[in-house]
Amino acid sequence: MALKFYNSLTRQKDVFTPLNEGRVSMYVCGPTVYGDSHLGHAKSYISFDIIYRYLKYLGYSVTYIQNITDVGHLTDDADEGEDKLQVAAKKERIHPMSLAEHYTASYFEDMDRLNCLRPDISPRASGHIPEQIALVQKLMDNGHAYEVNGSVYFDVASHKAYGKLSGRNLEDMRSGTRVDVKSEKRSPADFALWKKAEPNHIMQWDSPWGKGYPGWHLECSVMSMKYLGETIDIHGGGLENKFPHHECEIAQSEAANGKEFVRYWLHNNMVTVDGTKMGKSLNNFILLKQVFSGEHERLSRAYDPLAVRMLVLNSHYRSPLDFSDSALTAAQSGLDRITECVKSLRKAMEKADDGEADAKVLKQLEGFQHRFRKAMDDDINTSVALSVIYEMEKMTSTLLQKGRPNKKTLAAVNDMFNCLGGDVLGIVLKEYPRESGINQDLLDYLMGLVIEQRAKAREEKDWAKADEIRDKMAAFGVTFKDTPAGTDYEIK
Ligand SMILES: [Zn+2]
Repeated sequence: MALKFYNSLTRQKDVFTPLNEGRVSMYVCGPTVYGDSHLGHAKSYISFDIIYRYLKYLGYSVTYIQNITDVGHLTDDADEGEDKLQVAAKKERIHPMSLAEHYTASYFEDMDRLNCLRPDISPRASGHIPEQIALVQKLMDNGHAYEVNGSVYFDVASHKAYGKLSGRNLEDMRSGTRVDVKSEKRSPADFALWKKAEPNHIMQWDSPWGKGYPGWHLECSVMSMKYLGETIDIHGGGLENKFPHHECEIAQSEAANGKEFVRYWLHNNMVTVDGTKMGKSLNNFILLKQVFSGEHERLSRAYDPLAVRMLVLNSHYRSPLDFSDSALTAAQSGLDRITECVKSLRKAMEKADDGEADAKVLKQLEGFQHRFRKAMDDDINTSVALSVIYEMEKMTSTLLQKGRPNKKTLAAVNDMFNCLGGDVLGIVLKEYPRESGINQDLLDYLMGLVIEQRAKAREEKDWAKADEIRDKMAAFGVTFKDTPAGTDYEIK
């Protein structure tokens, strides 16, 4: 088996072979921190979190970089418009860096709840201004960039490979761009590396070309090179970033270094609402915090953050995901089923007898793992991988209901849930928080006494007593489950 990724650059599934054996360098375009994250962000960052986790599962040592954009991302792709952070900061009447601080913290809070592992480094654009100026200077020196009135542009015509990722050619781009007579660029397809700051622009830095700020594309090239080297294995991002953002990243990096910038380009698809892209600019987004609290007109209830994860895993990362409350409800009930199963499994493990692990169960687990890997190797097919977890859940429930599996057998099942469902998919937790403030051990002990009393009454054919215990407990929401391994209880 070999891991294959659909590479946007070659437009086919390529076998993944890292540049350096055993090591993977991975860069994913991070958030522009001017608002809370919505479901669209969840799709993107869960998708790459799964890729990161799976590479680690395969034994690679992975360095994962995800930048924080806190300067230079303009409201308009054509190098016009205002800085997104500055616009939002003005509205809230705070400094743009204070806004960035707030929304960076908010982003990590949401991602932690979605059980996304933290990247190894989360560098900020504003913390890498000298490096960005140095790259612009390098491009000026080798004839790929030119300065006009304090701004510096990349000369697209000087770089023959421009368009190789998006498949657009220069002529199409020229004719497709709206004609702006006031543009100071040599060609409308050229893009800004450095922008001259107007006096009222808050975030500005000194440069050889006067006061200004970096173009958005520049930061990713610079931070990728700084932390991962001139050629990296994987660069990921949303499909909407393929052009112009990633195309520009390639042009400026390869023109500067004369080396291939990225070997595998991975793009995730978007979340849609009624068929339209969910996005901040379209104002049809649902914030993750609203999903977690249930406070949105499109939501019927509050959802577990891991239900969002389930929803994302249900579709392929390269397919669009159409949001609906019913899809989220289905994801939640799927998650509940798996969680309940794992909890019962762990409870049964505590009481199980010693003995050798059941060879038949071990063989089944091997089969699950094989099919899980096959699905994930095929360009991270998470919906098939998830179906394997559901089959494990079915097998485990049958095992617990029909037999008396011993400790070693159950531990093997639990290990497999922890590995595939936990380490890779991130939907099974090593430990679940207690549901109430009640000490679980105490509750188990007291319920054990009740169960014993009930069994004694039945043994003595004291049906009135047995019924009384059952009815009393039912009034507290407690039901008894009689299994070959003994009686268990459930609290609703
Ligand atoms: Zn980027």
